[in-house]
Amino acid sequence: MVLDKDIKEQLAQYLQLMEGDILLKVSAGTDSVSSDMLALVDELATMSSHIKVEKTELQRTPSFSVNRIGEDTGVTFAGVPLGHEFTSLVLALLQVSGRAPKVDQKLIDQVKNIKGEYHFESYISLTCHNCPDVVQALNIMSTLNPSISHTMIDGGAFKEEVESKQIMAVPTVFLNGESFGSGRMTLEEILAKMGSGSDASELSDKEPFDVLVVGGGPAGASAAIYAARKGIRTGIVAERFGGQIMDTLGIENFIGTKYTEGPKLAASLEEHVKEYNVDVMNLQRAKRLEKKDLIAIELENGAILRSKTVILSTGARWRNVGVPGEAEFKNKGVAYCPHCDGPLFAGKDVAVIGGGNSGIEAAIDLAGIVNHVTVLEFAPELKADSVLQERLNSLPNATVIKNAQTKEITGTDKVNGITYIDRETGTEHHIELAGIFVQIGLVPNTDWLEGTLERTRIGEIVVDNHGATSIPGVFAAGDCTNSPYKQIIISMGSGATAALGAFDYLIRN
Ligand SMILES: Cc1cc2nc3c(=O)[nH]c(=O)nc-3n(C[C@H](O)[C@H](O)[C@H](O)COP(=O)(O)OP(=O)(O)OC[C@H]3O[C@@H](n4cnc5c(N)ncnc54)[C@H](O)[C@@H]3O)c2cc1C
Repeated sequence: MVLDKDIKEQLAQYLQLMEGDILLKVSAGTDSVSSDMLALVDELATMSSHIKVEKTELQRTPSFSVNRIGEDTGVTFAGVPLGHEFTSLVLALLQVSGRAPKVDQKLIDQVKNIKGEYHFESYISLTCHNCPDVVQALNIMSTLNPSISHTMIDGGAFKEEVESKQIMAVPTVFLNGESFGSGRMTLEEILAKMGSGSDASELSDKEPFDVLVVGGGPAGASAAIYAARKGIRTGIVAERFGGQIMDTLGIENFIGTKYTEGPKLAASLEEHVKEYNVDVMNLQRAKRLEKKDLIAIELENGAILRSKTVILSTGARWRNVGVPGEAEFKNKGVAYCPHCDGPLFAGKDVAVIGGGNSGIEAAIDLAGIVNHVTVLEFAPELKADSVLQERLNSLPNATVIKNAQTKEITGTDKVNGITYIDRETGTEHHIELAGIFVQIGLVPNTDWLEGTLERTRIGEIVVDNHGATSIPGVFAAGDCTNSPYKQIIISMGSGATAALGAFDYLIRN
């Protein structure tokens, strides 16, 4: 039995939702992954009379495709979609059987209208929490449009293919054999990347807003809800709705909720925002702010949005080490997400740059997968909590090097090592490695505001206790500001403050 009793019970309930018959075409060999896959497929077939199985030969073995009877949908799983991909499998079974996917009708129409042949391949790991979104979005596209197909490939089962394509971060997506993108992507983002997003004139034609929020993380979502609840015309423009929580696994300090996961919280923020009359403009990046009578926000696509007040909540992003080799080898051995990319370095030697909480947590996590992990800390001491340091010190395959200034990430077509300078002795050292995880904190997304409003030395927007910035009518909230603590609940609180501050400003002006 591949599935345990509890999962089987849940699965049985889902399979009752199937609306028609489907055919699983299975390509299996004699290896152990093939036998696991066959066991899974056979188990599925015993659980629903809607599921038929047929042996065939597909491009990859072991793999199986999920089809309507008499019509190939192009949804294929190479490897065994268990772990984080089990939900992707269940959704594929339901959607191919005829059950409508839970996405906006506008997006469904966009997918159906795509012309031309598109074959996607997504490389994933079964422990990657960012991968299912991509797999599920591409499966929906394949199910809705016959000229689109998608194969999910478990990197653990197809190690040689992953090595030959030099894939060192998941999810990595190829379209028609060419690199398409990596990292978490929503259906909307994939469509925008394929050139099927909203155009500039549609945005520029919008009436001025009372409050325009720039940024769709916890701070922006909270600001938009508070503004909309005042009955004023509110818009929110975001490069990627959800913000950093889209890359966060477990959240245990969102008060009132003992445990949640980032993407789940992001989805409920979006749902909450959409309960109100808020114009959500996702996948749009602001590049310039100018104050005249109204405040103008120019977007990357050339559109100009106007508003009486603006709330900046553009958050923060991973800080780069900024040494030669980092940009060149990004996703070729240089990684930022240990949960996602750790399994790709199984049995290899890696380093973590940064000895704060996130760096030491990453090192502990990686030590369970890789051969050896070296932590490089710039300062003479680690900054992580002592409980984490003790845990790391107890591990036999982890080493800490303090006073280490990273000089260069070396490699040819992928990372092969790191060069650092011992700051005490001035001597240069080189360690041979397959991967480097950068964990040195965050930098505010405020570069585009340079020269417009007051920011701190490290680029944080300076706000007062009403969330007001140095420009009248422009407010700011969350991780992009000089708030000393960067947390979800704090960002949400400051988003609410900024919205109330903006409302106060509107009344007085
Ligand atoms: C791995 C990780 C784990 C974490 N775990 C926790 C935790 O357990 N608990 C906790 O409380 N906090 C945690 N945090 C911190 C928390 O996620 C942040 O404090 C919070 O997300 C900040 O919210 P924000 O809205 O200010 O910014 P962000 O979440 O960064 O959102 C910024 C928004 O602005 C958009 N944006 C950026 N630039 C532009 C632009 N030019 N134009 C338009 N839009 C733009 C982005 O796309 C995004 O929508 C974690 C962070 C990380 C990275």
